[in-house]
Amino acid sequence: MSRYLSPTLTSLKPYTPGEQPQDRSYIKLNTNESPYPPATAVVEAIQAETGRLQLYPDPACTALRQAAARYYGIDPDEVMAGNGSDENLFFALRAFCDETHPLAHADVTYGCYAVWCGLLHIPEDVIPLEEDFRLDPAKYYGRGETIVIANPNAPTGLALPPEEIAKIAAANSDNVVIVDEAYVDFGAESCVPLIHSYDNLLVVQTFSKSRQMAGARLGFAMGCKELIADLERVRSSLNPYNINRMTLAAGIAALESTGYFNETRQQICETRAWAAEQLARRGFELTDSRTNFLFARTDRMEGGALYQALRDKGVLVRHFSGPRTSDWLRITVGTLEQMEILMARLDEILGGP
Ligand SMILES: *Cc1c(COP(=O)(O)O)cnc(C)c1O
Repeated sequence: MSRYLSPTLTSLKPYTPGEQPQDRSYIKLNTNESPYPPATAVVEAIQAETGRLQLYPDPACTALRQAAARYYGIDPDEVMAGNGSDENLFFALRAFCDETHPLAHADVTYGCYAVWCGLLHIPEDVIPLEEDFRLDPAKYYGRGETIVIANPNAPTGLALPPEEIAKIAAANSDNVVIVDEAYVDFGAESCVPLIHSYDNLLVVQTFSKSRQMAGARLGFAMGCKELIADLERVRSSLNPYNINRMTLAAGIAALESTGYFNETRQQICETRAWAAEQLARRGFELTDSRTNFLFARTDRMEGGALYQALRDKGVLVRHFSGPRTSDWLRITVGTLEQMEILMARLDEILGGP
């Protein structure tokens, strides 16, 4: 135990991010980054901004929020920018939950929700997914507490249609329903259009997965004006300059690079279909992923052992040790070449296709 840590934090369990190894070069399929570089306009926008680093960035993120408003067809007051989705989600929990106002979330979902509950002393209401990892919307009706749903979910890859999210929002009208759409650009449908019908709906998106900007740290929280104003109060109470100049410029350029955005996500979806078929041929069981990763298991080898064997051969995937997930691997969809190497290494490990 630390001599210095506040006693209220002694049981805090931090999030374990996917490895970012520096020792050798791996085929990195473990943190759901894009295998493609950022759009040319993004790189140019960042370069143009470097000469102005002596000045603070715009704390209101005006130009970026206007670009977001144009892109999503919403009002600039209905969107807030955060230092990645992680920051926006943290602000939301800080704003809407506390020691006596719990957060409801699935048992198998993004691990940070539980970590932030620990840091902020928020009680958790953990709602188990079904046996096959589907989320039963009816279990979320009338909870009387803040809810967060990753849609599509991680690491399961499964998505709910917006109509189902709408029913959950309607059945919890006195509480905020947060929809974490980190993976929505890979074949699911966004709930952003619903923010005008449900004033308790907060939709969070990120530039990390589908816009080649994980290293720039940028995400949006979108909801009705009152909800965004509440979040702004929290943001401005912690760090009003949370988005740096280069990221502000990069975000606008990325939103305008629609051609590149559509080409790269289309490519990921095609590679996902190819890799899913290859894995199925090798006897893997897979969920119906609507994301840039596959969630897979096989009777041919236990999950942890397969993860380690792939690592030894220079391919990094993600393995979660939880009781329901320890037999599964989460495999980021990389380039076709990377996925071909993955299949070759799997055949070496498993002794043939
Ligand atoms: C990656 C991810 C995030 C965090 O995204 P950042 O914008 O990089 O902070 C949040 N939620 C889910 C479900 C994610 O997969």
